[in-house]
Amino acid sequence: MTNETWSQVRQELIKRVGKNNYVTWIEPLKLAALGNGVARFEVPTIFFGDWVQRNYADHIRSQLASAGSPVDRVEFALGTPAPEVAAASKASVAKPVAKTVRARNGSDDDLPGAPLDPRFTFDSFVVGKSNELAHAASRRVAEGGTVTFNPLFLYGGVGLGKTHLMHAIAHELHTRRPDLRVLYLSAEQFMYRFVQALRERQIMDFKEMFRSVDVLMVDDVQFVAGKDSTQEEFFHTFNALVDQNKQIVISADRAPGEIKDLEDRIKSRLQCGLVVDLHPTDYELRLGILQQKVTYYRSQYRGLAIADGVLEFLAHRITTNVRVLEGALTRLFAFASLVGREISLELTQDCLADILRSSDRKLTIEEIQRKVAEHYNVRLSDLIGPKRLRIIARPRQVAMYLSKQLTPRSLPEIGRRFGGRDHTTIMHGVRRIEELMAQDSQLADDLQLLRRLLQG
Ligand code: ADP
Ligand code: MG
Repeated sequence: MTNETWSQVRQELIKRVGKNNYVTWIEPLKLAALGNGVARFEVPTIFFGDWVQRNYADHIRSQLASAGSPVDRVEFALGTPAPEVAAASKASVAKPVAKTVRARNGSDDDLPGAPLDPRFTFDSFVVGKSNELAHAASRRVAEGGTVTFNPLFLYGGVGLGKTHLMHAIAHELHTRRPDLRVLYLSAEQFMYRFVQALRERQIMDFKEMFRSVDVLMVDDVQFVAGKDSTQEEFFHTFNALVDQNKQIVISADRAPGEIKDLEDRIKSRLQCGLVVDLHPTDYELRLGILQQKVTYYRSQYRGLAIADGVLEFLAHRITTNVRVLEGALTRLFAFASLVGREISLELTQDCLADILRSSDRKLTIEEIQRKVAEHYNVRLSDLIGPKRLRIIARPRQVAMYLSKQLTPRSLPEIGRRFGGRDHTTIMHGVRRIEELMAQDSQLADDLQLLRRLLQG
């Protein structure tokens, strides 16, 4: 029964993930157990399992559910490696570097990098205000010319495109400069390889291999914080490459100085190059990304229609991160094609109810007051209290304005929370800010920043 289900599911997965991904990542999976809410698969290497977990576990789960075997979790455990698969996943670090057979189609085939997602290219990356600097810097690195800043340090919250940009750099370098040895991996993989090299007494090979690359990209470097010997090794690798004038690209979820338990000397090294942050997306960028994805989905689900206003609705309502936005669209298309209906606004609201609800953060007037007080460095009690000094009155009006804009509260309700003020006072405050905003760019900037902080 279980294996039958699995072969049925596999047929579906070919359609979902595409033939290439299927052959590389799904076919080698061996179903070991299915039951008690868990599907367990044997995989040839830990990385293989990680990769499938990260990229295909959701697909596998949803297909198992459609096949009548819903599970809560998909797990991967090491099985007996099939030799050809281990080679395909490029994940065996134990290979002595010098002896490895070189390159069918690049000079870095022997490097133990993580697989690159073929969809993460510069072509598919939508540029907006929030990511334009990160994009431009990545483009520069991808030219493979002289190293102008080292490292390039990209940081920002989840799902804002860091990994996408790093893969895009690698793809571009592969085409433009096939002579360069480009290594992309996550900090976690770096650690794993390092520990494995220690265990297998191949630390010299490890060092030699990492020092032989022309471009090193390490994703999610915050992961090495607190892992002392790994940090240490990372630091030495880093320095050795910088000394040889080799390009390094690093990503993290926060700025170098803000990574806890990262040694100071590493922090300062990371700050030496170009540090660029990816800001939260704005409405235009989200809409742009949706439009681009829709073009792709239209070709996948031929004949599926999408009503006017649906994309605008999604871009407006799902502000958390691009991954969630993409997930919403994927689900929408899958659902619409299943029921054979047009993607209307009603269908969207139905199908995405859970996502829409969870991204509906209910902002309170108190939160707004607190943030505004903090921003203008005034006391919360003064902000709400009766003082009429301008340095307090203006922030107060800003807080009134934002309360009106960002919460569904009525003017009298807002008045009550501002120390029992009359609703006409609130209305006056809101109008005043609207007028000033048009003339005072500092105020407009303040409002934009506050809005961003509050809507996170
Ligand atoms: P991060 O590494 O910052 O957490 P990812 O690079 O994994 O984020 O991006 C999450 C998803 O969102 C990916 O599927 C990626 O292709 C997509 N994405 C993020 N930013 C953009 C963008 N500007 N244009 C197109 N797709 C994007
Ligand atoms: Mg990432």
